[in-house]
Amino acid sequence: MRVLNKWIQKEPSKNAITILKDRYFLKDGEGNYLESTWDEVAKRIARHVAAAEVNYTNDIEEIKNAEEHFYQLIKSRIFLPNSPTIFNAGKTMDRQLFKKDIEETTLEDYKTIFDSRTKHNMLSACFVIPMDDSMSAIFDAVKNAALIMKYGGGVGYDFSVLRPKGSSIAGTGGKSSGPISFMHVFNTAASTIEQGGARRAAQMAVLRYDHPDVFDFINSKKDNKGNNVLNYFNISVNIDNPKEFKKMLEEDGDLTLEHPASSIRKTIKANDLMNKMVENAWKTGDPGMLFLGRHNQYYAMSEHTPVTATNPCGEEPLPPFGSCNLGSIDVAKLVEDMDLGNPNSPDISEFQEIVYWAVRFLDDVIESNIYPLKEIEEISKKQRFIGLGMMGLADALYKKELPYNSEQARKFMAKLTAELAYFSHVASTELAKERGNFPDFQRSKYPNGFIPFPMLDDEIDEDIKVWNEKIRQHFQGEATKYKRNVQTNTIAPTGSISNLADTSSGIEPNFLLSYVRYMTNKEGDRVPLSYINPILMEKIGTNMTEELKAEIIEKGSIQNIDSIPNEIKKIFVTSMDIPPKDHLLAQHVIQSYLDASCSKTINMPKSSTIEDVKAIYLQALELNLKGLTIYRDGSLETQVLTSSSQE
Ligand code: ADP
Repeated sequence: MRVLNKWIQKEPSKNAITILKDRYFLKDGEGNYLESTWDEVAKRIARHVAAAEVNYTNDIEEIKNAEEHFYQLIKSRIFLPNSPTIFNAGKTMDRQLFKKDIEETTLEDYKTIFDSRTKHNMLSACFVIPMDDSMSAIFDAVKNAALIMKYGGGVGYDFSVLRPKGSSIAGTGGKSSGPISFMHVFNTAASTIEQGGARRAAQMAVLRYDHPDVFDFINSKKDNKGNNVLNYFNISVNIDNPKEFKKMLEEDGDLTLEHPASSIRKTIKANDLMNKMVENAWKTGDPGMLFLGRHNQYYAMSEHTPVTATNPCGEEPLPPFGSCNLGSIDVAKLVEDMDLGNPNSPDISEFQEIVYWAVRFLDDVIESNIYPLKEIEEISKKQRFIGLGMMGLADALYKKELPYNSEQARKFMAKLTAELAYFSHVASTELAKERGNFPDFQRSKYPNGFIPFPMLDDEIDEDIKVWNEKIRQHFQGEATKYKRNVQTNTIAPTGSISNLADTSSGIEPNFLLSYVRYMTNKEGDRVPLSYINPILMEKIGTNMTEELKAEIIEKGSIQNIDSIPNEIKKIFVTSMDIPPKDHLLAQHVIQSYLDASCSKTINMPKSSTIEDVKAIYLQALELNLKGLTIYRDGSLETQVLTSSSQE
């Protein structure tokens, strides 16, 4: 593929190499590196995953062809799988199998790789673990989650099934301590797990808005200063039907809090609940909102296995014991040579091919994955969730000179996501013709012509109309007979892999245009490494003096730098330069074409009031969103990145 060749030549930056060393190069039992280049990593992942094709064919050339395509996608960093695939593929296997040239690799080698997989080869990032309202079920869930977290997966739970605090417990005569007390158990378990020394564990807790303990839940992280309370959890209140809830708020209606396993009943004002959520979100970012009813509306298996929670960052709704593996295409690299989003673009088949191989890779991961529990394996193989998404959107917009917070950019985002969704679903249908439908297909909504996302109105744009038409034809035509995967598209935060790809993360605007990162050198000294967005560097060109560089590093944003022309300022916006409502609208247009969900934070200025946060929470109830996460600048002491002037 032409566009891949260009990027295969480009070596990862120093920053990316540091991350590779920290997290991804394989090590032996003594901690010695077994790998030292990106090329070795790309080859290892490609070969491990291509080995799954032995399930479908004995034709060695076909398997090698798959390996070669996977290798090119990964080596070029145009497509990267989620972190667990990068650090667990090929782990603990015979290194020689991965060192051989592809020409010398035999069918036996691929079979050996496939057959020698162990529990160390868990490749997916997202899981949801159920629990029942009993002591033994809760502690089973703790154990199951611990196993997943140990190998680098993130876990979500619906705590709503647990009866509220103070409810009677039959048999003991005692009183239940309630869901929040058990969240602390999960938090402590997570804190003891080191994920291969690579990163800390991450979890999502969900509670229904009408659970009697919902106020305790909303308050459970209110004293969080960044790192001290339930620090292995994100928390989200599930408002099943956001439009109905909005009506309740407008009418100042009452809401009954109750639970099927308890006699406790409370009546509250819906507005009191909303106000408390907003006040705490203003303070610490938590809780977010989750709209599981909407998730189920667009999930083809909701009548049998409704989704009950999401993974830690919110982008992947799943049923109990569901799992999903993710991968992301770097659109910033592609926009240099492709007119993405344009249905009449001459190079459209090249993008379709990239998407096809990415979908095939993720579908193969389902086979080559070792699942931590047999229940997870069962549902993952019956429904075959995959999450192909994108990263590099903000950098792509810089390159296309479209301000993130503009109508034009939103149209581009919508068209791009529609194109990604359309080609992903077409690929999943093509794979189904060769490999069979996902086993639950006949029970799903697809045979009835179901479209798994809402889409935007035809009228807003000619190209959107074309994509909508193609999508309608697909789902009312071939997709009624063939579908390999119940869901295909998810947009992850890409917190680590976007750094590996030297691109902006997920669909977020850049948080800063420049910053100083401190690295420890061999002598143990901390040395400053300054970074300026390379697209900005190129745009400013020879006008980039040392003084200007210093000023950009100090401010992180260019909006208040007099010497930079306005046209450049308009394009090179950061998260904090963008009004919150434009963050929200970006999420809305992108979510309109995603069958799963996306990770997106609505960044708000430090000066935002509680009323400002409330306005965003209310607006979110009306858009095509599946959830909401806000963050007010400076509200946590340990913020991920700050410009040097704020340090
Ligand atoms: P990466 O860039 O490392 O692939 P992302 O930032 O895109 O990861 O996150 C994708 C998903 O991976 C998350 O939503 C979560 O399910 C899982 N995940 C991310 N970070 C962690 C972590 N520290 N521990 C466990 N799971 C994680």
